[in-house]
Amino acid sequence: MVARPVWGLAVGLAVLCGLGLPAHGQSTAEESRAEIVAARNGLPADAAKVLFGSMTQPAPLAARSIGSYARGCLAGGVAMPVNGPAWQVMRLSRNRNWGHPALIAYLERFAEAARRDGWPGLLIGDMSQPRGGPMLTGHASHQIGLDADIWLLAMPQRELLLQERESISAVSMVRMATREIDTRVWTEAHARLIRRAASDAEVARIFVHPAIKKALCDWKDGGADRARWLGKVRPWYGHNYHFHVRLACPAGIADCKDQDRPPEGDGCGTDLAWWLGPEPWKPSPPSPPKPPMKLADLPETCAQVLATP
Ligand SMILES: [Zn+2]
Repeated sequence: MVARPVWGLAVGLAVLCGLGLPAHGQSTAEESRAEIVAARNGLPADAAKVLFGSMTQPAPLAARSIGSYARGCLAGGVAMPVNGPAWQVMRLSRNRNWGHPALIAYLERFAEAARRDGWPGLLIGDMSQPRGGPMLTGHASHQIGLDADIWLLAMPQRELLLQERESISAVSMVRMATREIDTRVWTEAHARLIRRAASDAEVARIFVHPAIKKALCDWKDGGADRARWLGKVRPWYGHNYHFHVRLACPAGIADCKDQDRPPEGDGCGTDLAWWLGPEPWKPSPPSPPKPPMKLADLPETCAQVLATP
């Protein structure tokens, strides 16, 4: 990794923009918050997850997803309303209900369409931080405002209390000891929900536990367009309590880096067979912990996103 004068860049940008900010390009309140967060988590104060994890407000710039899903940030983030006609946002204390406007629009139309299919409403988990970027806890991705976790638990038909949004737990769809779908809780409504989520043209990928992918592959009523939507549903670790929707980069953002498209076909063949075998679950040899990402490891524009008051 090339070492760059991180704060020199931030300050340079701040001066360039005539912002007249203190040395770190953050407000004094944000600066001291970052210091507290760093100390509390035993992290260097210039770790990108400290800097972005201390941001409580979006960068008031034109909406842009900058960089890639696991190495980037978000300008012009918009908050998902915590209550809607067909959704409620969970874990509000995390302040991770932010996204690119394209993600907000997608979630609203997906929630409505799922409701028409008979799903009572979405419980929405983590999206991104106000300015995206790496997070202090969980998630390697969710950095550019195009990822959202949707619980595999239907929304109750009443407005949840703040406290309930912190304490209610989702339900695992998988018997983790055997990595098989739990037929006591998995229903065809769950399959229809994921099909609906994946059928939107803006969706690039959906991550689910391999046992859920298998249940979808075994589903008799997958529809004539099965390969088109099911190919986007990718097996991955975790994702037994929720599924993860990832949108493609919205058109016209040069800095936003798409992933390669998933391979053609429904993904029910050799790829899934590998996930269902022992190979992915073998313990990996211990490796030394990686130092946390610095601001300089992110695209350069992210310093400006951070510095904008
Ligand atoms: Zn996720």
